[in-house]
Amino acid sequence: MALSDKQTQELHTVIEQRRAALLSELREDVERVRKDRFEDLAGAAPDAGDESVATLIADLDHAELGRDLTELRGLEAARSRLTDGSYGICLECGGDIGYERLRASPAAVRCIDCQTVHEKTYAGSSPAGSSL
Ligand SMILES: [Zn+2]
Repeated sequence: MALSDKQTQELHTVIEQRRAALLSELREDVERVRKDRFEDLAGAAPDAGDESVATLIADLDHAELGRDLTELRGLEAARSRLTDGSYGICLECGGDIGYERLRASPAAVRCIDCQTVHEKTYAGSSPAGSSL
């Protein structure tokens, strides 16, 4: 079923809220990474063990930033699809993605069937939205 105006409006709100939350999360992440780096530079020379943990945390931080950035890009794309009227239409089959799925993943670009096929085909590569 195609989205009603009311559903489109609701999803628009979901996207805006998620986007705002994600942006503040990313800002905090960046602040934390900057602060950690500063403390590393300012602190006394750590032993090898501390250093490897610090490296691990830094890597995790980057991975977290990467996921958030991917999601943010997906939401940006969803906003522009809302504007041009292609939002909620499956990228692969042109069918309706469906309100429930969009409500759960507002940046979804495929219906569940096509997403399942996509994930099987590209198993191990980046998650949904990578082909945007
Ligand atoms: Zn589809």
